[in-house]
Amino acid sequence: MLPCTVGSAIAHPGQIVSGYIDVPAAADPGTHIPVSIAMGMSDGPVLALVAGIHGSEPSPIIALQQVRAELNPMELSGTVIIVQIANIPSFLQRTIYRGPWDGKNLNRVFPGSSDGTVSERIAHAITTEVIDQCDCLVDMHSGDGNELLRPYAYWNQLGLDSAVDDRACEMALAFGLDHIVIDRGRPRDPAATIFCSNTAHVRGKPAVTTEAGAVGVPTDLAVAINVRGAFRVMRLLGMIPGAAERVERPVWIDPSDVLVSPDTGTWHPCVTADQNVVEGELLGTLTDYFGQPLAEIRSPLTGIVLYVVVSPAMGKGEPIAMVGSTRR
Ligand SMILES: [Zn+2]
Repeated sequence: MLPCTVGSAIAHPGQIVSGYIDVPAAADPGTHIPVSIAMGMSDGPVLALVAGIHGSEPSPIIALQQVRAELNPMELSGTVIIVQIANIPSFLQRTIYRGPWDGKNLNRVFPGSSDGTVSERIAHAITTEVIDQCDCLVDMHSGDGNELLRPYAYWNQLGLDSAVDDRACEMALAFGLDHIVIDRGRPRDPAATIFCSNTAHVRGKPAVTTEAGAVGVPTDLAVAINVRGAFRVMRLLGMIPGAAERVERPVWIDPSDVLVSPDTGTWHPCVTADQNVVEGELLGTLTDYFGQPLAEIRSPLTGIVLYVVVSPAMGKGEPIAMVGSTRR
């Protein structure tokens, strides 16, 4: 078997190695992306596990450090590529949603560009070094530093290739989060895929996005959910010993709605994550800086609060909460 190379990391069969993908400077400074490769002793799929697309979502980041420690390449079939922290500028500056240098959301600029700003160059590096080499991908997120969240996964029902869609659904069920958002609205254009997992999916590689953890705190439970999910996907793919497991009673979320703020001011939520709400129920109030009401935010549907912003700072057009309709 040929070695697997990602950035400066070169793994031979039976090895686990780490290194960096270099993102050279252009209009703004360069950065690098820490990656690890575990290469098994026998053939099998190449699974990419990505954390830290948003730098203030640390539960998957800490989880993939544990996955690296627990992975034994001697009993692995195939190869696992771990992107330990995709967005180092955002991680080190502890920014929410957007990178600190270019103000762009890394998960809105895929597949990226080699001569764009740093977020676009990071996306390009992940597309060419990781997504182009993998067979399937899990992009692991959590509630951002300002968001309370109940764990869920996104199943991208793209409609380009039903076999790829079906496999992605199996991966979502295998990861183990019992609430699964059905998303049919992601772009189909390979040159404008916007999202990391969608970039793989459009290229015929089954992919899911997972959300487990909240408010910038990697609790033991949130880390454990992410570690367990990564190994469960490896088991589904036949990469490690053990019977595949799947969520037995998934709660499908369809439709769902991300509510955005109609104005800039201070946000006063009155619901929490995982709370059931009915259509028209008050989710919170937006006030100006003096405390005078600007708007009441109400749920557009009967369902569940998947995440809600719990810090007061609120800009016009920013997410306030995500609600989804549930069915078993
Ligand atoms: Zn995220």
